[in-house]
Amino acid sequence: MSHRCAIPFCVHPAKDGQLMCWPHWRRVPRALNKAIFATCGSDPAAYGENVAEAVRIVQEKEEADACS
Ligand SMILES: [Zn+2]
Repeated sequence: MSHRCAIPFCVHPAKDGQLMCWPHWRRVPRALNKAIFATCGSDPAAYGENVAEAVRIVQEKEEADACS
């Protein structure tokens, strides 16, 4: 089973249990990565905020790459 990566416009599938495809997921800072797992299923509000933050950080990194 797989689903779409959480990053908008990303066409890659993400593995079950992972929020994003591997290239995007590995860009998420470790602390945030842990926070996402810690709140997944237990604290939907915090989980949603963590996911939004992770998506924002990854998109910022992608944009920085595009300019270099
Ligand atoms: Zn992706």
